[in-house]
Amino acid sequence: METPKSRELPVVVVEQIVPSKVCFACDVCCRFPEQDSALRPYFTKEEIRAAVARGLSPDAFPDHAGSKVAVVPHGEGYRCPAFDPQTGHCGIYEDRPLDCRLYPVAVMWDHAHSAVVMGWDSKCPFIRDNLDSPESRAYVERIAALLESKESVKVLACNSQLIGLFQDDVIVLRRLDRLTDTLRSSTSFER
Ligand code: SF4
Repeated sequence: METPKSRELPVVVVEQIVPSKVCFACDVCCRFPEQDSALRPYFTKEEIRAAVARGLSPDAFPDHAGSKVAVVPHGEGYRCPAFDPQTGHCGIYEDRPLDCRLYPVAVMWDHAHSAVVMGWDSKCPFIRDNLDSPESRAYVERIAALLESKESVKVLACNSQLIGLFQDDVIVLRRLDRLTDTLRSSTSFER
């Protein structure tokens, strides 16, 4: 019988609002102060397969059914193993996971843990400077619609680690009602 773990899911590809050249020049992303940082990117089973095909070690993923990446020592902290410290680039950029593509959009539970919301992570310097631009507002509309699509809801519900815990430095933009209702109505999606 098919189980949630064995189910094949689509890879959700979203456009990224921060231009790649801005990301590559920034020292916020892809590096983490702690080995168990909650901000380490999560890869779905399908994204792990694509990352390994691009040369990332299978050992970078503690659970091949979907897991946060295992970071490696870097200076006084840690970095994603896909991050190349020489070039400052992502070594799997074309196949980076949804978690990385979405950033600085955060998908997380609200403070009361009663609804899933999306918001801007104010730690991103680019978005701090572009919070209210017409481009940012239009992007929010497109991404909210994509996150509430049937396909995305299925992927997020089956990979619940993509939904973070509440962070008070995230500027909440809106509730994701379809995703919330799906998570509430079915625990069979849990991985
Ligand atoms: S997968 Fe690429 S973009 Fe994502 S954290 Fe790792 S190096 Fe950065």
